[in-house]
Amino acid sequence: MERIKTLEMRGVTRRFGTATALHSFNLTMEGGMFVSLLGPSGCGKSTALNCLAGLLDLSEGQILVNGKPVQNVPAEKRGFGMVFQNYALFPHLNVSRNVAYGMEIRGVPKADRERRTQKALDLVHLSEFGKRFPAQLSGGQQQRLALARTIVLEPAMLLLDEPLSNLDTKLRNEMRVEIKRLHEELNLTTLYVTHDQSEAMSMSDLVLVMRLGRIEQLGTPQDIYNAPRSLYVADFMGYVNKVEVDVAGRDGEEWIVQLPGQAGATLRAKTTLNEAAWQIGDRVLACSRPDETLIDPLPTSNHLRGTVKLVEYMGKSFEGLIQLEGTQQQVMAHSQQPLENGQRVELGIRPERLLLFPMDAIAGAGKPGMAAGSAAAEPALKGQAG
Ligand code: ATP
Repeated sequence: MERIKTLEMRGVTRRFGTATALHSFNLTMEGGMFVSLLGPSGCGKSTALNCLAGLLDLSEGQILVNGKPVQNVPAEKRGFGMVFQNYALFPHLNVSRNVAYGMEIRGVPKADRERRTQKALDLVHLSEFGKRFPAQLSGGQQQRLALARTIVLEPAMLLLDEPLSNLDTKLRNEMRVEIKRLHEELNLTTLYVTHDQSEAMSMSDLVLVMRLGRIEQLGTPQDIYNAPRSLYVADFMGYVNKVEVDVAGRDGEEWIVQLPGQAGATLRAKTTLNEAAWQIGDRVLACSRPDETLIDPLPTSNHLRGTVKLVEYMGKSFEGLIQLEGTQQQVMAHSQQPLENGQRVELGIRPERLLLFPMDAIAGAGKPGMAAGSAAAEPALKGQAG
């Protein structure tokens, strides 16, 4: 199979009847890259993957492998390997035969088949299980078998569609490491579909966040985590604290904002938006992650006061729901020290970790796990447990 040096999806559009599931999708990957498509159910991730795989025809656009168009090449001739959420193993074939089957129908000689089967099983740490049947394997082992069966065919590219969704959290975490290890050992160009931000962040060179069939943001995991360019992406990255504040000024890169109702609660914050032309007095949303909204250790500046309403023990720290003094707004914050209901606390957020978005952004930001744009996210967990 020709090795992938570059893969390009150019203006790929896919319509189903009058509905467009994928709008002019562009992606360029270099050989060996690991790219994740991340987004909630229905945002078009699988459509993009299936267009690339050749399982869906394109309504418009082009797919180029090493500069050559492949959009009219049938799926089986593209040389891509796919792994799906339901492993699609053959229940009546043992582990070794499951792996060897694809080579059998391609006429690979027996000795080669056996050698490659053994190597693939070694790679996924299943060499001891060759004689077992799929039903005698755990979920994680079945998923590893599905991977072995795909990589044994030496695909030019690996396409994975939510491969870990059927596994419990512990196995998912283990399999993440396995997939990353395999990717590094084989240097296989990989496109991975998931709705789980931590999966996408932990494995990828690039993450592409999708919304309603379009690309919302493309960047390295660090870019997307540190500088989400919309409230929708921020939501996905765990910026669940959304506090309404008023613009009070600007100091270079930083904006000065004031929490209405709380005297002295002046905060410094940033925005990731290119053109934020806010005026003094404008109401905006200040967003932060609970684990970066800290009671203990308390950051040196950027403080707010509040009262603990609920406490949850998280293992490494305590997470509190904090009613902000002088307002109805609430945030989640972390503390290394135990918290108690009713306790008055000070919390702080480093200015570069407090991101500002316009108020109207909230209408377009679906919560992770919900259809994008279908529900307005609630500012600052308003009205909960208060
Ligand atoms: P999930 O995570 O739930 O698999 P997804 O992000 O992969 O979601 P897609 O499966 O790509 O989303 O679907 C994108 C949109 O296209 C959805 O609105 C879906 O209902 C629609 N769609 C997908 N396949 C078809 C089809 N065969 N016929 C009609 N509409 C379809």
